[in-house]
Amino acid sequence: MLDICLVDLLEILRRRIGNRPIIINSGYRCPDYNTKAGGVPASYHLYGMAADIRVPGMAPAEVIKYALDVGFLGLGLYPTFCHLDIRHTFYRWEG
Ligand SMILES: [Zn+2]
Repeated sequence: MLDICLVDLLEILRRRIGNRPIIINSGYRCPDYNTKAGGVPASYHLYGMAADIRVPGMAPAEVIKYALDVGFLGLGLYPTFCHLDIRHTFYRWEG
């Protein structure tokens, strides 16, 4: 199940980028699936606090700028998607 705060923030992001659709590649993961998906053991996906997203027609680097703007603190930039999570301290990385 996804944390309601994550859903709220994704909705705010969706509006902020001009009501474009946000495709969620991966949201909540159970521990087994997280391991198979190559997630780290303490992944925020396990708590429903993370989503890997992409926005058609928008570069992940651009999406992440808006995500930072609306208040996401965990920001992972990947070639084809962004990992966003609602951790409480700022952490940004590239994968
Ligand atoms: Zn992720």
